[in-house]
Amino acid sequence: MLRCSIEGVPGDSEAVDGRSPGRRPRGHGAATGLADSRLVKAFYSDHFVLPLPAGHRFPMHKYSLLRDRVQQQLPAVELLEAPAAQDGELALAHDPVYVRAVAEGLLSAAQQREIGFPWSPAMAERARRSVGATIAAARVALREGVSAQLAGGTHHAYAGKGSGFCVFNDVAVAARLMQAEWHRRGHGAMLRVLVIDLDVHQGNGTASIFARDDSVYTLSLHGARNFPFRKEPSDLDVDLPDGCGDEAYLAALDTALERVWAAHAQGLPGLVFFVAGADPHEDDRLGRLKLSLKGLAERDRRVLQACHDRGIPVAVSMAGGYGHDIQRTVDVHHHTLAECLRYWQAWPQRRPGPLMEQSGP
Ligand SMILES: [Zn+2]
Repeated sequence: MLRCSIEGVPGDSEAVDGRSPGRRPRGHGAATGLADSRLVKAFYSDHFVLPLPAGHRFPMHKYSLLRDRVQQQLPAVELLEAPAAQDGELALAHDPVYVRAVAEGLLSAAQQREIGFPWSPAMAERARRSVGATIAAARVALREGVSAQLAGGTHHAYAGKGSGFCVFNDVAVAARLMQAEWHRRGHGAMLRVLVIDLDVHQGNGTASIFARDDSVYTLSLHGARNFPFRKEPSDLDVDLPDGCGDEAYLAALDTALERVWAAHAQGLPGLVFFVAGADPHEDDRLGRLKLSLKGLAERDRRVLQACHDRGIPVAVSMAGGYGHDIQRTVDVHHHTLAECLRYWQAWPQRRPGPLMEQSGP
């Protein structure tokens, strides 16, 4: 039985089409330049297209398909153009020499091969926008409980190099920037961050960047035999066997989340980054796992419910997804965004937790 009832969260029927009472169809943020406070915000950057050679296996088209789907079927999601991350922001998690190499086209042939994309000005701009989208989503999440971006989850990028279709590490940059902004606003205590990385590939870059940083806890559930073949230790890693299906996956997720909360017995994180990869899906070309669409929707519900129960804001990145049929991948991401909408709708009805009392509107 994969469905669960959620106290304080609207039911599926009104959430998935977004036509809950009191919400009107959204305007388009990029066109108006104005955000609508009644709609859940999601940031996109798919119009910054990276030119790739014919036959390249990266599914660039996925992102515009997803935005089209959201525009058509989730009218209570407000789509906003991602801002570009600045050099100083990127340098919070990256070596400034590497940031400059990406910006100015100084990457070596070997560095470009490891990333998997040829350098171009558009490649550099797209990478900045992808990080900017996660930064924007994190800022909104701290105010409104939940926000998302339609790409990102570039967790294979290390401080000094890119890898596996990841140029910059969006979550690492956004986590460090949110901590800095939190401190600047005069909060005494450090903003603790939790990364819940459920992309099928291990979050090696993120684990490496935060390896000696106790303020950021990293959890990664991933295929044991999948890329990257040299994994970096997260605070908690869960290796899953090839062919893992819904039941075993969800049981592993429950156990992992219990361990995460136990590790935070002295104080909960103030912000969660949820890397909601679609590549554990059974149709994925690269995933090697066997999760159904329903199982992945339940995964998303369990993560968002766990954060909702504890009053922790969540910024969601879509991360990987390489379906034989790319529409199946878009289905998974679309369901993730529908879940984000449901939990965002529920957030203001909750008693504000200490975090929201401190952060204000
Ligand atoms: Zn992946």
